[in-house]
Amino acid sequence: MSKWFTHLKLYRRLNLRVTYKTLSPLRIGSSKGKSLFSPVDLQVIRIMLNGRETPYIPGSSLKGVFRSIVETLLKSYSGLGACDMGQCSNERGGGDGDTRDKRLQDAVKEYNNGNLDAKQKIIDILNEYCLACKIFGSNTYASHIIFTDAYPLGNVSIGVKTGIAINRRSGAAKGGALYQVEFVNPGSVFQGLITLINPPNYVTGLILHVIENIINRSMVRIGGFKSRGFGNVNINIEGIDGMVIDDSKLKYIKVGDELKTLDEYDTNVRIVEKHELIKEFIRVWDEYVSKHAC
Ligand SMILES: [Zn+2]
Repeated sequence: MSKWFTHLKLYRRLNLRVTYKTLSPLRIGSSKGKSLFSPVDLQVIRIMLNGRETPYIPGSSLKGVFRSIVETLLKSYSGLGACDMGQCSNERGGGDGDTRDKRLQDAVKEYNNGNLDAKQKIIDILNEYCLACKIFGSNTYASHIIFTDAYPLGNVSIGVKTGIAINRRSGAAKGGALYQVEFVNPGSVFQGLITLINPPNYVTGLILHVIENIINRSMVRIGGFKSRGFGNVNINIEGIDGMVIDDSKLKYIKVGDELKTLDEYDTNVRIVEKHELIKEFIRVWDEYVSKHAC
């Protein structure tokens, strides 16, 4: 059975072409301070696109949202479980009490020094990580999912809200100090790509489940000011494409192909039209959960 969770071999790569549509104001702040040229105190994050400073959604923010949802989900199923934000790498074990991180680095060093037996050691250590770390990576473990930055599709309009600074201790208005917060208006659309590297079908199903059944049902919001209703976003899957390596040959997947299982918990998936395919992947994820339920 394949060791999809290592990065030793490429089995398949899937692209989810997505658009993110804001249903309520969206605020992803810039870490930079107030711009000298802006009257606004808290600007949204921008990037230079075609010579213009353009609001965008950073891939790192999206990855953070997905990871935290996946960790919560995995912990909610008995028999699965997950660590917090890559903490797996700090766990001790393996007899000598070293952290997993340290054991992994040592095994990689051994392998690079010509000890080919260390390859099995690497596989065994990687297999100890929780599913969240296998998908999203940790300090020493490369991710199997990539979120690109999402750039505007068409024009994005920016709103500004004026707030009153509150003294956190007394709860009283701080001498009436006003501050201005920028946000992206509802109805704005951004496009990006979510790439999965070597995903078993249940992992693709998990990511689609997060999109369809959690984010698109407004169970989780993105960005700042969530308690004021900001950050309600709908993710539309515009298309799914990808490639598989079959008999050392690269093939682009097409309707009718079958994505074979990548481990003993996986289920084959036949490529069909998008809506049915999404349902099928999510069904495979549900099956994975029921196999682990205890
Ligand atoms: Zn973990």
